[in-house]
Amino acid sequence: MERHQNPSANIPKWSALLIEAVNKPGLIMKAYSAFHSYSLGNQLLAIVQCQMRGIQPGPINTFPKWKELGRYVKRGERALTLCMPITRKRRDENPHEESNGEGTFTSFVYKARWFVVDQTEGQDRPPRVIPDWDADRALPALDVTMVPFDSADGNCQGFAKKRQIAINPVAQLPHKTLFHELAHVVIGHTLEADFADTEKTPRSLREVEAEAVAMLCCEALNLEGADYCRGYIQNWLYRGTGFDADAIPEKSAQKILRTADQIIRAGRPTMAPEASER
Ligand SMILES: [Zn+2]
Repeated sequence: MERHQNPSANIPKWSALLIEAVNKPGLIMKAYSAFHSYSLGNQLLAIVQCQMRGIQPGPINTFPKWKELGRYVKRGERALTLCMPITRKRRDENPHEESNGEGTFTSFVYKARWFVVDQTEGQDRPPRVIPDWDADRALPALDVTMVPFDSADGNCQGFAKKRQIAINPVAQLPHKTLFHELAHVVIGHTLEADFADTEKTPRSLREVEAEAVAMLCCEALNLEGADYCRGYIQNWLYRGTGFDADAIPEKSAQKILRTADQIIRAGRPTMAPEASER
């Protein structure tokens, strides 16, 4: 798997994690069911580390948080690395920082400070329930309106215009189409053009982005459609000369993971305190 430039970090790039999810059906579902309170990118980061080290995936917390919960990290266990946002006052120009317009900046750093329940011992933990996802909650939270489907094109599965989407009432994979159209809006594609999606998704980077978001959402939430998306993305990656894992740019991978995360979070009930960490 391709790593970040910094050799000491040994952390896979987001595009490499995404390709891993494309090529290993079931990986996202496993990651989501174990780590659903974390961002999708961190879920993939955590599951890949668990697999490399033979750790059983499960709830994760920092050392002090486990202590608070009556559990202790076992002797000799190494912490998992996750990516966390750090907000601080502006100091100097740094191209890796995102401005929020208030004189503060968010930068992302990798820290090794999380342990999976399997790496700890102590008091039993109550079983956790995976929160359900509801489109009626997600749409208003994302500021997206569902409008009646009025396309005369029988092949059209759905469309996205500005902040409106429509899904063909007889769409073959309605959830997949819903996530795909939502992705076009949330990523910002609809600021540039309208999208009418037929059964055959055209080959373009924007379509790969929307389809990858749909794959992540369908598989995490165990809804039909992930296989179809996976096929499209694999086909995109396998062009003429062979498999090209670099065909999805790192920037697109970040957008895809962030958007899928936003859509999933928007459709869940307001979090219980335990699940509010990233
Ligand atoms: Zn599309």
